[in-house]
Amino acid sequence: MSNGYMGKILWINLSEETFKEEQLPDETYRQYLGGYGLAAKLIYENMPSKTDALGSNALFGFFPGLLTGTVAPLTGRFMVAGKSPLTGTWGDSNCGGYFGPEIRKCGYDAIIIKGMASSPKYITIINDDKQILDASDLWGLDVVQTEEKLTEKHGKVQVMSIGQSGEKLSLISGIVNDKARIAGRSGFGAVMGSKKLKAIVLKGNKAITVADKEALLNLTKEYNEGISSSKGMIVGWKTFGTTMANTYCAQIGDTPIKNWGGTVNEDFPMEIINKISGMEINKYRQKPYGCFSCPVQCGSIMKVPELGLDETHRPEYETCATFGHLVLNNDLMSLFTLNDLCNRAGIDTISTGATVAFAIECYENGILSKEDTDGLELTWGNSSAIIELVKKIINREGFGDILADGSKIASEKIGKGSSKYAMHSMGQELGMHSPKVYNSLGASFAFDPTPGRHTTATLDMYIRGPLMKPNGLFEGFELPRKYKRPGDDRSEAEKLVCGIFQATNCVGLCEFMYNFLKYPLLELIKAIVGWDMSIDELVKAGLRIQTLRHSFSLREGIDVINNKLPERTVDVDYLEDYKGYCKNMGWNPENAYPTKETLTDLNLNFVIKDLY
Ligand code: SF4
Repeated sequence: MSNGYMGKILWINLSEETFKEEQLPDETYRQYLGGYGLAAKLIYENMPSKTDALGSNALFGFFPGLLTGTVAPLTGRFMVAGKSPLTGTWGDSNCGGYFGPEIRKCGYDAIIIKGMASSPKYITIINDDKQILDASDLWGLDVVQTEEKLTEKHGKVQVMSIGQSGEKLSLISGIVNDKARIAGRSGFGAVMGSKKLKAIVLKGNKAITVADKEALLNLTKEYNEGISSSKGMIVGWKTFGTTMANTYCAQIGDTPIKNWGGTVNEDFPMEIINKISGMEINKYRQKPYGCFSCPVQCGSIMKVPELGLDETHRPEYETCATFGHLVLNNDLMSLFTLNDLCNRAGIDTISTGATVAFAIECYENGILSKEDTDGLELTWGNSSAIIELVKKIINREGFGDILADGSKIASEKIGKGSSKYAMHSMGQELGMHSPKVYNSLGASFAFDPTPGRHTTATLDMYIRGPLMKPNGLFEGFELPRKYKRPGDDRSEAEKLVCGIFQATNCVGLCEFMYNFLKYPLLELIKAIVGWDMSIDELVKAGLRIQTLRHSFSLREGIDVINNKLPERTVDVDYLEDYKGYCKNMGWNPENAYPTKETLTDLNLNFVIKDLY
């Protein structure tokens, strides 16, 4: 019996209505850890290239991190992964709550779905009993209704489901657990919808054995006490969650304003932004909540009597920025409404808000008329029109149908030069942080295996966050001395940040951990799994994972290196940055293909035949 992980995964074939367990060798875990590392290995090897992401042969799955399900602090995260129907590249989406740990309690390190049901279904895995059941009475419900109905029927279970947007195959839809924790990016709601899979219901009774329980408890206690006794930023994080950034990021010029074309001073001044600050939002705070095994608990349940909302969730910064700053909307109530609407429908707030911003700019510039928008006056900051438009997007109704697959596809349908207002990378709308502030975001927005994402490894966000300490966050991890001054070659530092980021993601750690205290990563891996891992081995596992995710996109025929970002979003030579990074990664800087030597060195020999 392994320590830390369960040693097996579950394959579910919806066409054949079968379940099949597969044991994995220990070496696979040591090389790919868990989360999207394990996903990249399994999906790359089992899904042929050019598979239609919304077809029956597409695979996608749910992958807890290596340490997920244990008490190790901040490790409750899991990932949904597969081919993104939105970008055509590798896709993954990180999520929290309690669903990931429950996969482990059911005895698995991954649940992978293939095939396609002929009518709406949901899957239950309850204490070893596995079934595929009729979901026709759930089809059409939002995720909160779905979760309530399934909990009523099956008792205390963990549910992950799609809402109306996933059912309608919106390419910007996600999958939701804990009523509002969404794996929002990459379009996996549409993948699940295409398989007519409404929900997965889990309840497990398995325990995770660990190598050294006493050490695990001591390390956890010490870290959690450090969080409890901390002041400053950590208290702010516990109190306001990510909404702390609503004003801070705007002040430093990081939050995109007016569809990336405006500025705080000219278009959305701080006195207006203060109306949607974390402080204002927190006036409606009821109680904190968070993910499994997290001492921070950065989420919050809200009550908004003005809207008749007795229980809703605090909007995250990204949501406030796309529906606030990006569209010049300072109507606080509309942010609560939009957040609630999107969560319930299971649609990504970043892509939805950014696509609304695209539509507004088209309207303001005469590309769209009131007839095109079903009578909506899509002017900057018109919160009631924005709410009506989002309802239409969710239901694919009228003009909403044109926008429901994101701004790139919408601009192709609208034409008339509208593509210049679509702020995306390979079809995915950009996260709400600016490469003009965090320069290295330019290359990661453009070229990461999951393009357009602000949560990917990127040096400048790692070193310039309010509390981040590049060296010393993990024992033995150090960036090279020179990377800060203009003219320094930063590519070695970029590579190291990439490696450690992939690794921490794949053990299940929340990225917010990078804002907090020194984290006993290697000690926890030893206590839980029993591995004596060096930081170099861990970073190398991260580089292997990144190279495989990237190779997946190359095998799909994606011309990664020639991707371009919308001009107004970036003011650095991100291609030059990327070429330096490629060189250090052991990838050919001219075409971004990993060299054969690199693939061999990373034990990725099975990729060589696909790329050469
Ligand atoms: S910090 Fe927030 S998002 Fe991260 S694990 Fe804790 S509760 Fe979840």
